[in-house]
Amino acid sequence: MTDSLSLPASNWPVLEQGWVWLCGAGPGDPGLLTLHALNALRQADVIVYDALVQTDILEWAPQAEHIYAGKRGGKPSAKQRDISLRLVELARAGKRVLRLKGGDPFVFGRGGEEAQTLVQHGIPIRIIPGITAGIGGLAYAGIPVTHRDVNQSVTFVTGHDQTGDATGSLDWKAIAQGSQVIVIYMGMKHIGRIVSELLAAGRPLSEPVGLVTTATTADQKVLESTLGTLEADIAAAGLEPPAVICVGRSVLMRQALDWQSMAQGIAPRNLDPLDRGRPAEAG
Ligand code: SAH
Repeated sequence: MTDSLSLPASNWPVLEQGWVWLCGAGPGDPGLLTLHALNALRQADVIVYDALVQTDILEWAPQAEHIYAGKRGGKPSAKQRDISLRLVELARAGKRVLRLKGGDPFVFGRGGEEAQTLVQHGIPIRIIPGITAGIGGLAYAGIPVTHRDVNQSVTFVTGHDQTGDATGSLDWKAIAQGSQVIVIYMGMKHIGRIVSELLAAGRPLSEPVGLVTTATTADQKVLESTLGTLEADIAAAGLEPPAVICVGRSVLMRQALDWQSMAQGIAPRNLDPLDRGRPAEAG
């Protein structure tokens, strides 16, 4: 099956010896890789990949050595330094190095830090963006991250930082009041705190929340909830990270756009979840 995919003729970039390409692998479904990612997989001598990279993707690079650099949930930052330095070493050893990261390498993925270390060590790099979980993962659940009737802005937030808990350093009031839709990465651990902050900042208990775990994979699970019931609903459903959490009325659109259920013959629950009272116009 892997053989049937050939890249269309074009001047594809060549991964040279001693280079590191930092590449997004998308949220999980291999079909969400970019053609540049496929081109990189075909050429790499060594692939250093994260926990969130689906390992089926590595089957597309049987010629390469696969090195797992997984780390989940805010482990010590020394480890991050080790990964960056390992990349430097591999490049200096003359390898064609592919650093494969879940989603997009520059979205809450420490790709910026790794790229900086490489550049500081004089290693030539290329960046290959990927589909980030906070957009593509929600799309697989039928949740459009923007919708004209809901939001003119969206804020991407992380629940983790170098200290482990980012919730204390964020201005929740500004976020809650300034952005109709909030997409939270790495939010499961501190979800209680995040919900309290949003409620304290004036978002209603009834505010829709969508939560998607292992989005775009065969194990994807989707929870539709509200700020008022979210914690209890997560516990009742036994949901585990990784999860993207979307707060805002765009979550309601899933009632019409749950395309995965529709593909199984289940009719949409509501064709007009935002109560426009008229069909959506083109344009
Ligand atoms: N660079 C990645 C994000 C890395 S941070 C990206 O652009 O998507 C790790 C967090 O991303 C997870 O805790 C989770 O919030 C989110 N995430 C990544 N892949 C996911 C997936 N398949 N399903 C749900 N959440 C995912």
